[in-house]
Amino acid sequence: MAKSKPPKSKRGPTATNTVHFACFDCRKAFKQTGSSNWDPEVPKRPFPCPDCKRSMVRLGRYFKAPPKRATRQWIKVELLYHYGERFESGHSGLDRKCRTLSDAVAHLVRPTRAVSEIRAVLEGIRALRSRAARHA
Ligand SMILES: [Zn+2]
Repeated sequence: MAKSKPPKSKRGPTATNTVHFACFDCRKAFKQTGSSNWDPEVPKRPFPCPDCKRSMVRLGRYFKAPPKRATRQWIKVELLYHYGERFESGHSGLDRKCRTLSDAVAHLVRPTRAVSEIRAVLEGIRALRSRAARHA
């Protein structure tokens, strides 16, 4: 008597969600198909920007890309990224807490991290991005 086999659909993990990646140089975000931010069986792969071919940064499933012309919003995202903030969880409410660039700066302040330090990083990002824009 043959044992019944498990249904064919249960054939190991499949990536069912996509992770958002962004290019801070181009101010563009793309979803990587077949990526997963919860399934450890799905390996993380590098994802080059389709426009400039530089490696994109992984921002998580809940990242919502600002419009390309919203420079301040992109600088905000890059600042958050610099400090290790990601949009991996819907519960973190990162979008809601950090609506503007100054919200983000306030969000990043810690007892050991002064607002002046964050502003210095912010100026560094601004300088980098305005330089990139001039060379575009
Ligand atoms: Zn790019």
